[in-house]
Amino acid sequence: MLQRYKFINLWLAMAFVTVYFSLGSNLGNRAENIAAALRLLDGAMGCCYSALSRLIETEPMGFAGDTFLNGAVRYRIPRPEASAEVAGLALLDKVKAIERAIGREDIPEYDAAGRRVYHSRAIDIDILFYGNEQIQHERLVVPHPGIADRPFVMVPLRQIALPSLKKAFPEIFVAAEKCVAISTDSGRLSPTGLSGK
Ligand code: ADP
Ligand code: MG
Repeated sequence: MLQRYKFINLWLAMAFVTVYFSLGSNLGNRAENIAAALRLLDGAMGCCYSALSRLIETEPMGFAGDTFLNGAVRYRIPRPEASAEVAGLALLDKVKAIERAIGREDIPEYDAAGRRVYHSRAIDIDILFYGNEQIQHERLVVPHPGIADRPFVMVPLRQIALPSLKKAFPEIFVAAEKCVAISTDSGRLSPTGLSGK
């Protein structure tokens, strides 16, 4: 029985890839933007998502602006024949097209010191994980850097992360354990933790 379970798991891991996205919106009708992102992601991925976190309200991190709605979503898609990098970049193009369709217009901006300048956005969709792959490309870094120190990513992600993902990336999940010792669906997150409501 255990043997059969192991075999099925192995087959699933070979035939499918599990992809995690973070979702965030702090401009316009935030809930509608996130709902639209999910509809469009379902279309782009060719299936309905397997798991969706609760949505949480968080303060903007690194810039002044309205409160965000943040969530995370998980998909299981047939493993493409292309390499993880090629398939990941194709996925990023789809994600960017979805962001534009929902009304995101800004292009990444940097200050004189080369630091990222952030703005309010109708939607932000980031690829958090693409299976257990590591991708280092100038347009795409996976796992998305900074997951562990962003409670607005980590709190929803932990609600939908499969045990196999936690096992594959202990450095992310163990660090986050210290950073976000919270589990809430009604709280409001500050950049560093729960600030009460
Ligand atoms: P942010 O998500 O940091 O607010 P953007 O959504 O404007 O910023 O993305 C900036 C750039 O980050 C994108 O143009 C994309 O090429 C790059 N990027 C690198 N890795 C990822 C990833 N894992 N998911 C999404 N974008 C990524
Ligand atoms: Mg983004």
